[in-house]
Amino acid sequence: MKEELNTIPIQDAFARDCECPVCELYRKLEGNAINFTIGPGASYMEGDIREQSDKEGFCQKHLKMLYAYPNKLGIAMMLKTHMDRTIHEVAKASKAPLPHVNSVFKKKEVQSHPVTEYIERAQKECFVCGYIDRKFHSYIATIFFLYEKESDFRKQFAASKGFCLEHYKVLFEKAPQYLHKKYIEEFLTTLNQIFIDNYKRVRDDLEWFIQKNDYRFKDEPWKNGRDALPRALTKVGSILEE
Ligand SMILES: [Zn+2]
Ligand SMILES: [Zn+2]
Repeated sequence: MKEELNTIPIQDAFARDCECPVCELYRKLEGNAINFTIGPGASYMEGDIREQSDKEGFCQKHLKMLYAYPNKLGIAMMLKTHMDRTIHEVAKASKAPLPHVNSVFKKKEVQSHPVTEYIERAQKECFVCGYIDRKFHSYIATIFFLYEKESDFRKQFAASKGFCLEHYKVLFEKAPQYLHKKYIEEFLTTLNQIFIDNYKRVRDDLEWFIQKNDYRFKDEPWKNGRDALPRALTKVGSILEE
């Protein structure tokens, strides 16, 4: 049976005046994920969730966000048991035979070892990223669902301010997987167009922002240059400020 799709967050994000509605969706999800991890529900006190966060740990960005959240005891407790887990795993991995000195000819070859393999695996995981990813996929599916079902949404999509580079890629890549062949060409053509047009628009705003910093242009109107920089951060780096 097909999963029930919640279209409201998608419609809200596309209704917002921002440089990438998918960034907007991501930002909301990220807020929910941080709240779930360390917020008033205290999910970290539940055994199965704690087991998962102990194992996965947190990426640098989300560790910073969790630390900024006003629950220092919560983050301390989660970090302590995550560190217990790391100590256990590293101690186990470090029992493997130690790496040898490379021969002269193989100096540049990086030797794999259970210690570095464990750390590399651990660095790829993040409890908060995992929480976001699961929901994010269903949001992307819902964008395609709406595109097929609602002509109003197709119009809204075509009239949008486009996307950041990363989410342009996500939509481009996933379209053939989700869209009926009747819509695929129209979708991708529209997507390409709105991406380029709007990326150029922000690029031009940025150019004006730079010119306005030149004294010869100081009395000229700002046009759309004043907030060009934060909008360029969205387009280039998927950074969406509040
Ligand atoms: Zn984006
Ligand atoms: Zn993360």
